[in-house]
Amino acid sequence: MPLLFHSTNRQSPGVDLREAFLRGQAPDRGLYFPETFPVLAPEEIAAFADLPYAEIAFRVLSRYTDGILPAEVLSGFCREAYDFDIPLETVYDRVVVMRLDQGPTASFKDFAARMMARLMGRFLHEDGRQLTILTATSGDTGAAVAHAFHNIPGIRVIVLFPLAEVSLSQRKLMTTLSGNVRTVAVDGKFDDCQAMVKQAFADPALSALPLSSANSINIGRLLPQSVYYFYAASRLARPGEPIVFSVPSGNFGDMMGAMVAKRMGLPVRKIVTSVNDNDAFPKFLATGHYEKIVPSRNSVSNAMNVGHPSNLARLVALYGGRMDETGRIHQMPDLAAMRRDLFSSSVSDDRTRDTIREVWNRYQLLLECHGAVGWRGFQDWQATEPLDGLPAVILETANPAKFPEEIEQTIGFAPDVPPAMTAALQLPENFDRLGADYESFRQYVIQAHA
Ligand SMILES: *Cc1c(COP(=O)(O)O)cnc(C)c1O
Repeated sequence: MPLLFHSTNRQSPGVDLREAFLRGQAPDRGLYFPETFPVLAPEEIAAFADLPYAEIAFRVLSRYTDGILPAEVLSGFCREAYDFDIPLETVYDRVVVMRLDQGPTASFKDFAARMMARLMGRFLHEDGRQLTILTATSGDTGAAVAHAFHNIPGIRVIVLFPLAEVSLSQRKLMTTLSGNVRTVAVDGKFDDCQAMVKQAFADPALSALPLSSANSINIGRLLPQSVYYFYAASRLARPGEPIVFSVPSGNFGDMMGAMVAKRMGLPVRKIVTSVNDNDAFPKFLATGHYEKIVPSRNSVSNAMNVGHPSNLARLVALYGGRMDETGRIHQMPDLAAMRRDLFSSSVSDDRTRDTIREVWNRYQLLLECHGAVGWRGFQDWQATEPLDGLPAVILETANPAKFPEEIEQTIGFAPDVPPAMTAALQLPENFDRLGADYESFRQYVIQAHA
């Protein structure tokens, strides 16, 4: 029997991974999540120490795909998807920065997007179906999704981005592809792009088209994000030794990967979940009172400008509570247990920039704004509890070269550009332009399917 995934709203029947994947959201608007997690034995986890990343990915993910995908297919996908470095840089004692920024679009979103694209392409092919992925992006998601789905048969991608809010390098990582990937520069804000995509999903005039999304409510994006936690522990912790993770967070998909790893048996002492000025979660953890932030607050860590983290419903469900998609809590989770496992603080833009400067001056380690929030959150936690000599891993989720202006203003020089990005920066761009009005976008989507 394949593992069943249930909706956090508990009003839809359980489905297997394949269904959960292709649907994205459950019919009751909840998020799919396994009722119980497959648990790896301590010996299996200990054996990861000698395995390459792709093999660890296979051993973790096959627990979810058994019965719906042949092992050799998954194993091939893991080798193709994870063919880049994952540097672990020791900063002091056993405190390490894990750089998840070496993929083709230089953010951690490559890890999930590359696996998701392969699985989705396979499932669609089996059904003889086609799909169009619509996605609005403030930068990183669009690039990761566009690259991952480029040239996957049966899938078309349309990415909307706000022309004035995306850096040149972020833009070129999306617009230099062609084929099945179309990019649209919108004369408006990210909020406009997101509203246009949402409206398209709800538009009866488009309901005959096979539209889908690739955002982090999809369980297919979440599971691959549990693998790098196993990987880090396999290189840094002794067998059975607990480890600390610090994850800069927006929609909480990345930190939920750490939670999944923990539930699968990885010994984890604490998951530090730091946020920027969008501090609904740290307030909730402190007071038990949840108030989403509308509209979300802008900050320099722009990929984390999220006022109501979409994966919070899953986190609450893991601790026995129930939160609906609007953020209303129907049943309180076990807060005491959450506080034992999690720490959360909010890091302002001033503290973010100070952190980049301080870490550079003290350790010659270059962080960008998102990783700096992770670093500062870890230090905030350290002020409350000793580490007791355990290993701790702070996730750097993007490459500093994606934000050259910000880095230069903060420490006085521009970061080196990694080779994967250099190539994209030299290719010719190709994108369409639209105003921020829904009617023209609707016509655009219809024409793309003509
Ligand atoms: C998306 C993103 C985040 C936030 O990840 P979530 O899973 O949404 O919490 C952090 N850093 C970078 C660079 C990102 O692109």
